Amino acid sequence: MSVLIFIDQSEGHVKKASFEALSYGSKLAEQLGTTAEGVALGSVKDDLSDLGKYGVKKIHHVNQPALDHLDAQVFTKVISEVAKSSGADCIIFSNNVDGKAIAPRVATKLSAGLVTGAIALPDTKNGFVVKKNVFSGKAFANVSITSPIKVISLNPNAYPVSEVGGKAEVVQANVAVDAPKVKITATNKVKGEIPLSEAELVVSGGRGLKGPENWGMIEELAKLLGAATACSRAVADAHWRPHHEHVGQTGLAIAPNLYIAIGISGAIQHLAGVNRSKVIVVINKDPEAPFFKAADYGIVGDAFDVVPKMITAVKKLKGLG
Ligand SMILES: Cc1cc2nc3c(=O)[nH]c(=O)nc-3n(C[C@H](O)[C@H](O)[C@H](O)COP(=O)(O)OP(=O)(O)OC[C@H]3O[C@@H](n4cnc5c(N)ncnc54)[C@H](O)[C@@H]3O)c2cc1C
Repeated sequence: MSVLIFIDQSEGHVKKASFEALSYGSKLAEQLGTTAEGVALGSVKDDLSDLGKYGVKKIHHVNQPALDHLDAQVFTKVISEVAKSSGADCIIFSNNVDGKAIAPRVATKLSAGLVTGAIALPDTKNGFVVKKNVFSGKAFANVSITSPIKVISLNPNAYPVSEVGGKAEVVQANVAVDAPKVKITATNKVKGEIPLSEAELVVSGGRGLKGPENWGMIEELAKLLGAATACSRAVADAHWRPHHEHVGQTGLAIAPNLYIAIGISGAIQHLAGVNRSKVIVVINKDPEAPFFKAADYGIVGDAFDVVPKMITAVKKLKGLG
């Protein structure tokens, strides 16, 4: 009996979301009086034993070239095999792109109950009850898993990374790996930017910025703060910004520590993707803009006046001028 955590990686480097999942899974194991183990697939450049500092005792590493790229069916089979052989009865994923593709399949394969998008440790005093957001973050649901095996995917930025120290034992797991059915012919990567899904700070622009030529100040502010840039769907639809920056119901759902919304009205579909942000700052010239209702801090003002002033203030704070 143990908790097994899927260690998600990109190009050999373990993702921040995995540190959260490892911390969460380890705490859950402690709560259940059992141990936490990890499973990593494909070649990993980072030292997996270091992940012991997040509380995992053992890491099963299935290092085969077929696992260097995500093929959800192949990953599902391998993770399920490792779960069975390690006797795991609780399997944790990040609720990110990879986790969304694999967790439901693993749950089906193991006849397990599944909760996606968990935001807190399960209540294990009375059964096994997992809290999650529903209705685009407008409400919570407490979902009881009654099956012997349980699968949970954890929302990014919902559980803090906690280090307890120590090293994990890394064992090379010998699992039969099917040939992937998906062949990757080309990869186009966004270079030199902070990935939006992993960003802790986000500066986002809307139609209030009037046109793509005005994004210089958004990018400058983001660069100064070490933030990623995002936009509303209206902006992406108008081709002012690339679609991978569009956040909201039909775009990326993010949960950064700080979300600065500039010239965005705060339509419900936009809020659906950003309302899990820890702190929301809204800059809008219309005091009646709906976004102010969701804001922690609001500035009623013209973006073309406020943002340059913010840039000057941040530069001054950083001793840059
Ligand atoms: C099914 C469906 C799904 C959708 N999914 C999404 C989604 O995922 N994400 C998303 O963003 N939208 C989504 N939308 C669209 C959404 O309803 C809004 O139309 C969109 O978010 C509006 O974008 P906006 O706020 O940038 O533009 P606008 O609504 O035009 O708002 C611009 C804002 O800028 C302010 N402003 C103007 N000039 C200035 C200035 N100089 N300084 C400061 N403020 C200024 C205005 O007061 C206004 O509040 C969806 C819609 C539908 C129907």
